[in-house]
Amino acid sequence: MTTLQKELINWYTLNKRDLPWRKTQSPYHIWLSEIILQQTRVDQGLSYYLRFIEQYPTIEALAAAPEQDVLKLWQGLGYYSRARNLLIAARQVVNEFEGQFPQTFESIKKLKGVGDYTAAAIASMAFQKPNAVVDGNVYRVLSRLFAIDTPINSSSGKKIFAELANELMPETDPGIYNQAIMEFGALYCKPGKPDCENCIVRQHCLAFAKNQVADLPVKTKTLKVKQRFFHYLVFLFPVNDICHTMLRKRVGNDIWKGLYDFPLIETETKGATTEIITAITENFGLNSTSFTIESVSPEYRHQLTHRQIIARFYQIQLKGNESLLNDNSLSLTPQAMLHQFPLPRLIDKYLSENENLYCKNN
Ligand code: SF4
Repeated sequence: MTTLQKELINWYTLNKRDLPWRKTQSPYHIWLSEIILQQTRVDQGLSYYLRFIEQYPTIEALAAAPEQDVLKLWQGLGYYSRARNLLIAARQVVNEFEGQFPQTFESIKKLKGVGDYTAAAIASMAFQKPNAVVDGNVYRVLSRLFAIDTPINSSSGKKIFAELANELMPETDPGIYNQAIMEFGALYCKPGKPDCENCIVRQHCLAFAKNQVADLPVKTKTLKVKQRFFHYLVFLFPVNDICHTMLRKRVGNDIWKGLYDFPLIETETKGATTEIITAITENFGLNSTSFTIESVSPEYRHQLTHRQIIARFYQIQLKGNESLLNDNSLSLTPQAMLHQFPLPRLIDKYLSENENLYCKNN
């Protein structure tokens, strides 16, 4: 093991955060934590990890769960394809690997939702295989230590950093070393101004020597964020004196597949209320006298990776019952039961801020 590797491991031993998935060799627990932590901060993901382990203590228990329950437990974490893939992968382990978690980088990568990074993390941490992880923290640390200015999100950059990370992988304790370099990037060699003067690996750091720390890593510009305009229709009407509304399960190849939201009209631009009224009559077979828009919410802005959703919610009183709505993809739902469905965070936020939707008697 080189001095650099030893120093990183020593630093990690003294400074690592106390996290439950670091106290286990269970590939199920390590895999679960890695999937949750993709695109999610540790402080946000920790409670989800604990709830998943409690509700599904084994991979068999997870594999047997209905998708709707898994999505509900995942609610609020975003990137819901992770939850759907989690369930598919659990069923793969049970059905294709006879309940034994695969142990090599290549076989772990066969699991749905598992890419190079996650496969290397599981192989090294659960099975002590010498597969290097390369996440955002590792890119930053390596680009600075070796003063590499190839963009980390270019294909040549990915190749260069992956090869370098594997060259640096020690033969002993690969899992500990992987965690050490990631943790060092997360806690010490941070994106802003790291404390280079007191850094334990400063003598190895070419970016420090060349005064290039602030310029590294280099990243090419990503795609411009596109806006989508959603107009949610919150139909309200009493059934047996209980306020009901309509929910729809999202299907097709779009965001939030498998989750529930309100019937939706999407427009290319912000859209005027008159445009929405026309769309309601056309899309739901209503005539303009059979409903009243009681209120329109302020704009809700919801950020996704390459999209920004700009949403308004229209509370609509129907003059009649749900059969007026010519759309059998909608589910009639009592207001009090809305939270039992897996909901996108945007819908959950709207409901939390509008707990008492008000139904008028017809
Ligand atoms: S000297 Fe600074 S830039 Fe280099 S590894 Fe240490 S903290 Fe990171």
